[in-house]
Amino acid sequence: MGVGPHEHEVMIDSHCHLAGAEFESDLPDVVGRARGAGVRSALVILSAGDAAEAGRAGRVRELWPEVRFSVGIHPHHAGTTTDDLDARIADLERELTTQPAVALGEIGLDYHYDFAPRAVQQEVFRRQLRVARERRLPVVLHTREAADDTFGILAEEGEGLRVVFHCFTGTMAMARRALAEGAWLSFAGIVTFPKATELRDVAAMVPADRLLAETDAPYLAPVPHRGRRNEPALVAHVVSTLAGLRSASVTDLSARITSNYETLFGGPLP
Ligand SMILES: [Zn+2]
Ligand SMILES: [Zn+2]
Repeated sequence: MGVGPHEHEVMIDSHCHLAGAEFESDLPDVVGRARGAGVRSALVILSAGDAAEAGRAGRVRELWPEVRFSVGIHPHHAGTTTDDLDARIADLERELTTQPAVALGEIGLDYHYDFAPRAVQQEVFRRQLRVARERRLPVVLHTREAADDTFGILAEEGEGLRVVFHCFTGTMAMARRALAEGAWLSFAGIVTFPKATELRDVAAMVPADRLLAETDAPYLAPVPHRGRRNEPALVAHVVSTLAGLRSASVTDLSARITSNYETLFGGPLP
């Protein structure tokens, strides 16, 4: 695999699952390729309560000290009941402190898969938004086929929160609504897919100070790597696609995205 089209640029992968089991066997190579491609930092998403992943996060940090972490209960893992939610929120709070995390997520609603009952997803989402407010942490939001309920709960629980719609794939109308609410939009490799015409219009429209780029690795590899395991080095393809759509230089866009990342997720990089 090549190191991407702009190996001299400084880039950020604002959402990846680098502590996933998919990277266990060749993590040093994956990190080496990311650094070789100019990826300076990444926001590594951890699933709250996954002890094996939390253990692997330590190795990610050793190999790549510039990465930052986010922890949350994904809507897929919201469970079948809220009976034990107090204990799960207490566990989450502990993990946010011990990592430490610069963000809370990914959290939200997924009505495409419906792996958890919607009422449970909603309650787990609400409780985590309250934690984010108390701790003044930005929220990494996962929402799929659930726009109205997502906006409704954010209106009730999200006062003053900084929210990133990760892997944004919504319509232009949804993008405008999110931006009007003060949110950031993060684009993944889907923006490189041939059929994603409306998404490319959205990516061209988003103000530069609300824009992020991500891989969501190991998922969603961009063209020309589609269908294989994704990895942070490939964020270069997302950034170059975004730059083309916005008639911006990759250098300028990368600098802008880096600044947005620093603003949202833990301040200036070393
Ligand atoms: Zn997601
Ligand atoms: Zn993700």
